[in-house]
Amino acid sequence: MEVAVDLHAHSVFAGGTQSLGIKPETMVTNRKKAISHLTRTNQTMPLKGVDIIGTGDCQFTMWTDILKEALIENVKGVFFLQNYDQTRFILQTEMIFTAKIGKYSKEAHVIFLFPNFSLVETFRNLLDKWGVKHQKMARPFISCQSSVQVAERIHTILDLDPWIEAIPAHIMTPQGVFGSGKGNIRVNNLTDFFASATSRLRVFETGLSADPEFLALIPELDNRTLISNSDAHSSSLHRMGREFTVLSVSKLDYQSIISALRNNQVLYTVEFPPEEGRFFLTGHRAGRKRPGSHGDKDYCYFSPQHVPLHDICPICNKSLTIGVFQRCVEISQAQNVKRVLGEVTPPKNSIRMVPLIDILSHVLNIKTKTAKSLINQYRQITSYIGPERMLWQLTSEEVEEKLIDLIETSIIKAILQVKAGNFTFQPYGFDGVYGTLIIGQKGNYKNVKVIHSSKPIQKTL
Ligand SMILES: [Zn+2]
Ligand SMILES: [Zn+2]
Repeated sequence: MEVAVDLHAHSVFAGGTQSLGIKPETMVTNRKKAISHLTRTNQTMPLKGVDIIGTGDCQFTMWTDILKEALIENVKGVFFLQNYDQTRFILQTEMIFTAKIGKYSKEAHVIFLFPNFSLVETFRNLLDKWGVKHQKMARPFISCQSSVQVAERIHTILDLDPWIEAIPAHIMTPQGVFGSGKGNIRVNNLTDFFASATSRLRVFETGLSADPEFLALIPELDNRTLISNSDAHSSSLHRMGREFTVLSVSKLDYQSIISALRNNQVLYTVEFPPEEGRFFLTGHRAGRKRPGSHGDKDYCYFSPQHVPLHDICPICNKSLTIGVFQRCVEISQAQNVKRVLGEVTPPKNSIRMVPLIDILSHVLNIKTKTAKSLINQYRQITSYIGPERMLWQLTSEEVEEKLIDLIETSIIKAILQVKAGNFTFQPYGFDGVYGTLIIGQKGNYKNVKVIHSSKPIQKTL
């Protein structure tokens, strides 16, 4: 049977969420917000066509307690929310590993999946033993001296139980294993960061700014399972379920899902457009404070062939934030292959799901993605068509047939234009900024060189 999973999410307590205070005195309000987050998640996922989602931050005590109270185990390791049974949950967290590579510290985020609450407790005890400060942060740092210590830590966690799974997260972004780190550190092989634990890592998360086609440039990933997850920091429609993975499983329990991941039983992934991802191209965004300074109108971004010498920003003269596209090309070269984007067949199918909320935002000219009018339109469309992903699984004729006379013509036209590939992003995603969807034009992200600067350009270009 098929199951759609989104195995990387965050709770209301994670950094970058609605920033709930975590003081005990605010616990009653927090609890209410946390429960409403779960309720909204339960309602949002069916609109996307996702069956199972990760809980996020499952080791964070306040969140663990709420999960324990609110969730009921449906089958082994798979939970649902009391009184709501549309969406299932799996115990999941994300940890930040840091290790010294050369002079600098490099971070790499790793997702962990747990089969039960008791192992989550054991994991938390380990964090205590290692001196990890996990009481105030839902996504704590496991600081390591070296890659050898990273491996030791991962081995110890995985040795707790054969069904715990470790999945390197958004591997190409600056916070992922292959992303460029501080001092422009480059990890070009998994063993450079994960050392002997590399052989136990079977599943990798592509991240929003990459998809299986980009990752097909990297030989080291050839025989691994590539999955897509949303990494949602809120339960909004434009965050949750924006990427996910459809697996073939024998049963709907935790162990069957883990087996399917380990054995690469991925039927297809549903992908956020990489060009829209926050780290797609190399560049520096406007208004950035550090390093150097950029005024509100000073920004630059480049596709790999146009990146300035030594990756130096022509505006502030500091190191640029290296995009996922550039890293894919660099690693491909470092691993000694000549692979060209679009000429290597990715191992699995993928469906590109340009977010419906973005299309509506473009057509109706409403910038706030959480605006009620957008959400109402979204709900109307999905009530006629089924989950959002059906827009991309049905043919244009089928979509038109289902929506005609029910939805504004301009919206139908825009959806059909996107389905026909007549869209681009301006700008593309870069340096932590999402790309902006433009419908009715085509773009070429392979040939981009944009510099907007109010200051004289440095000579390094
Ligand atoms: Zn992360
Ligand atoms: Zn700069």
